[in-house]
Amino acid sequence: MRVDLHIHTRPRSSCSLIDPKELLVEARRAGLDALCLTEHQHRWNAKDVEALSREGGISIFQGNEITTNQGDVLVFGYAEDIKGVVAIQDLRQEVQKAGGLMIVAHPFRGFLLFGITQLRMDVEQACRRAIFQHVEGVEALNCKVTDPENEMARKVAERLGLLAMAGSDAHRLDEVGRCITILQRKVRTERELIEELRAGRFSIQNEKC
Ligand SMILES: [Zn+2]
Ligand SMILES: [Zn+2]
Repeated sequence: MRVDLHIHTRPRSSCSLIDPKELLVEARRAGLDALCLTEHQHRWNAKDVEALSREGGISIFQGNEITTNQGDVLVFGYAEDIKGVVAIQDLRQEVQKAGGLMIVAHPFRGFLLFGITQLRMDVEQACRRAIFQHVEGVEALNCKVTDPENEMARKVAERLGLLAMAGSDAHRLDEVGRCITILQRKVRTERELIEELRAGRFSIQNEKC
């Protein structure tokens, strides 16, 4: 099952250019079986998601991209609509109570430009970032960052034994379906999606070229 775990639409994410109806067409074109709406600090109304899913004939799940004091985190299976910046420890506690899943989004975005080369940050140092202690997974393929930044995320996930997911972080239509997570089993609900991800029954693929 081909899933794009990280998509922003407008107007719910003001930085996105993707209209939800156009997203349905593009998702089919990209051969996706499912997608996750991961707006910034915003949860869709479940009824609207259901209607969109029915209209598009594609499974649509909800996530949420939450800004924490340690960076952006994709959260699944947590229904609270969080506004503003939260402390990662507090979020972790709440999400754990709800049985949800936390994935660090684009953990090294901009680091190559501003940090890794000057500071010669190596994998060991990168692993020491506090945020990795509070999540189950790392986005190891994100189409908005450079290849070395993705590579660093992948290495950190491997070193720390964290799940390594892919998500396009699409803000434009042509970015939909670029970085996909391929599940071994078909899932019908957000709970099943979380179960499969947590169990590591997936692979990731870069469809950029
Ligand atoms: Zn982000
Ligand atoms: Zn994002």
